[in-house]
Amino acid sequence: MGYLSKAARTPYTCCVESGYQILAAVTPCRAWSHFLELQKNQWLTRQELDDLRWQRLKQLFTVTHETIPFYRNLWKSCNVDPRKFDDLSNLLDLPVVDKQILTRAQQEDGFGLSAHKGYDVAHTSGTTGIRFQIPFTFATFQKKYASHLRQMYACGWRLGVSSATLHYSGHSQFRGKYTGRADDREPFMNMRESALSVAHRRRVLVPYHGRETGDDEQVRAWYTTLAACSPYMFETLDFNLPILKDFIERYNLPRLHIPKTFVLGTYSPSLRCELQRFFSTELFNRYSPHEIEGVAFSCNVHRGMHMAIDCYHTEFLDRRNRPVGPGEIGEIVVTDMENYLMPLIRYRVGDVGHYYEEPCTCGRPMPLMGDLDGRTRDCFQTAAGLMVAPSQVAAILQDEPEVVVFQAAQDQSLAVSIQIVFRNTTGIEETGARIRRRLEKLLGAGIPLSLNPARSIRLEQNGKCCFVKR
Ligand SMILES: [Zn+2]
Repeated sequence: MGYLSKAARTPYTCCVESGYQILAAVTPCRAWSHFLELQKNQWLTRQELDDLRWQRLKQLFTVTHETIPFYRNLWKSCNVDPRKFDDLSNLLDLPVVDKQILTRAQQEDGFGLSAHKGYDVAHTSGTTGIRFQIPFTFATFQKKYASHLRQMYACGWRLGVSSATLHYSGHSQFRGKYTGRADDREPFMNMRESALSVAHRRRVLVPYHGRETGDDEQVRAWYTTLAACSPYMFETLDFNLPILKDFIERYNLPRLHIPKTFVLGTYSPSLRCELQRFFSTELFNRYSPHEIEGVAFSCNVHRGMHMAIDCYHTEFLDRRNRPVGPGEIGEIVVTDMENYLMPLIRYRVGDVGHYYEEPCTCGRPMPLMGDLDGRTRDCFQTAAGLMVAPSQVAAILQDEPEVVVFQAAQDQSLAVSIQIVFRNTTGIEETGARIRRRLEKLLGAGIPLSLNPARSIRLEQNGKCCFVKR
């Protein structure tokens, strides 16, 4: 709370927020008025939220049926008409779509985009396989930005308060600088960048852009920049933080103090605790794939993330597209209630996750989902043929204080090989034996396991360090 009020008193914050308010009143940059509405929505009663969601879904179905040939034909072929739905449970009759289906439909102009002008595209980073493009009008882009702001404000940060970000080299903000992909870009790029540097006071750190982790000089640059600009909020990916911690420890450097940290990823409770202590920070999470900004965000209770059901309808399904129960891991399927240019209706994102039934103690009636369980295609398989989520495998390694970073990979024969960067050379055997025991319990006997101490972990093509992959 201390930080929240301190941040709130910054005169720069008042200037930026007033500026946004004026823009919303007199220009098409309406993000601030959308944001105020979203802020209000999070405190509506659950009944009011459910009503709002239903009303917005109905409108989406009606307009989509009228304007988008792809969905009209798809629904017709399944003999279903969502305009006649009278209950949320009816949605289960609608077909689920994925990146592949949508990309094909785009190529066949199934969304009628050829008739539109004045839109811009966002694309996914390609980590889930297909690089997928989503068009946004400027008006929708303003709504997505408002959703982003709500996620950020939930941690106590405000516009005008300093921030820093350390992502991965394939992030489109770098316009292909490290990947050589010249088509890498964000929608409405120039406006976005001005907002981030002026209003978010955001410093962008140089991400790892070699083939593997382990480059101390790069990590030193992160440390120096963070120490010099001491941001109130730091946004990063799961692998960067343990690497930074290890570097600070090895060189015996003064600790950093970062009030709020957004980590896009999932840690085991013990690693989470340790990182919060080490950086004297409060860790936040958000679920915000590129194409659907602001699906869920964490509050200061930190039991998972609130699902933004005023903007997105989120489902958790089994492999036969039936809903799973609370706490069970299912594939995440999202309906975006804002993008009418290219509607995403029951869109399989390519991630697995779980939800909780109980409401959050912070008082927001928006329902909770857990931290993400990983990508669908990286799920492991047990000897008995059951699926194991990447987060379950990762937790076993993250629980070990001697492990810095790692990569567990399962091949087609189900054999698992794990590369592990240890903090010290002492205690490797003991740690290894513990990891082995827990993995055998999780995956079942009969799965060949090999644990290999390593000096570095190979990065994915987009610069991410993937903890668990299939
Ligand atoms: Zn809460």
